[in-house]
Amino acid sequence: MKLSEELPLIAKDPYGYAEKLKAEKKIVGTLCSYTPEEIIIAAGAHPFRLFGSGQKSRLADAHLQSYCCSLARGVLEDALSERLDFLEGIVFAHTCDTMQRLSDICRINRGGVFHLDLILPAKLNTESARRYFRDVLQTFREDLGAKLGVEIADNDLRKAISAMNRIRKAFTRIYELINENPSIINGEELYILNRAAMMMDKARLADLVEGTVVQLSSGSREAPDAGAPPPKRIFLEGGVCNYPDIYNIIEEAGGAVAGDDLCTGFRYFNGLVDEDNPDPLMAIADRYLKRIVCPAKHAGIADRGERLVEMVLEKRAQGVIFFFLKFCDPHAFDYPYLQQVLEKAGIPSLMVEVDDPLQAGGQLQTRIEAFIEMI
Ligand code: SF4
Repeated sequence: MKLSEELPLIAKDPYGYAEKLKAEKKIVGTLCSYTPEEIIIAAGAHPFRLFGSGQKSRLADAHLQSYCCSLARGVLEDALSERLDFLEGIVFAHTCDTMQRLSDICRINRGGVFHLDLILPAKLNTESARRYFRDVLQTFREDLGAKLGVEIADNDLRKAISAMNRIRKAFTRIYELINENPSIINGEELYILNRAAMMMDKARLADLVEGTVVQLSSGSREAPDAGAPPPKRIFLEGGVCNYPDIYNIIEEAGGAVAGDDLCTGFRYFNGLVDEDNPDPLMAIADRYLKRIVCPAKHAGIADRGERLVEMVLEKRAQGVIFFFLKFCDPHAFDYPYLQQVLEKAGIPSLMVEVDDPLQAGGQLQTRIEAFIEMI
């Protein structure tokens, strides 16, 4: 499989890409997959996911406690260092405490861009949450429109929904093909594809990702060595993954990623917005209510565990690697419960916590090798 050359370039130098794109569109930064990108696209702007550039923290440390995650620290450092000057504004979907406070810190210390908060419900399985979710989206539509000086019409929303659904369908197909044969694409390519998808122009992305589906479906990738044992199927569970190396480590240890439930992986693409719903905002809200929830949300006491076991069985994964950013409280709080649910289902798991930049790979590599050998 050969990815289009554009994708690794964007994944490697996202800010360089954004600087060029800003000549065509206003760019709005996002930090979480709970940001309704359809509304930003319908406003004629471009949603651009921020991950932090992983550079040494000099300015952010004055505003954040040492126990904040590297995502929050990295984004704040980039904002204060004027590396995000291509942005028109930033949208903060309230998930964890860190994200909520990051919004305030950015607002107070970084002028020149707008800051919008999306205070979505934490509980997602009630009718009142559904109505409230829609109200929040309506407020966001009005606030964003006012900041960008446009009126966001239902028709524009429908076009944006359809554009995003096209991308989600293509990624769903890619994940199905990976489930059939995890060696069909190597993990680093999958990482690049996912990563670029969250930052690049959506119309161009849809073409590229559909092309990738055609390529993968045609089986053009070289067949693995016939004598080699099949790789062990691994499911990745966790939050933001900024580390392509993790995929190489898994593959070198004899594993292959058969599926994931990462904030920066399949959870972002999961589920379609109903294009036939006459109320596009309700349709956007409904997708979030049905989608796999992240640990900062709640859809029932047993929902996360049941869904995780379901996904692992569907992917025929032999083991789960929990992959967390250090100090990510929502994921860390959920871990003991999820680990127990997997244990009861007879599914082995390993938990790794990483920081940005990734510490020397030795220990991580040894733990992953030992886990893959054991399963
Ligand atoms: S990675 Fe975790 S702690 Fe950091 S912002 Fe996201 S949910 Fe919050």
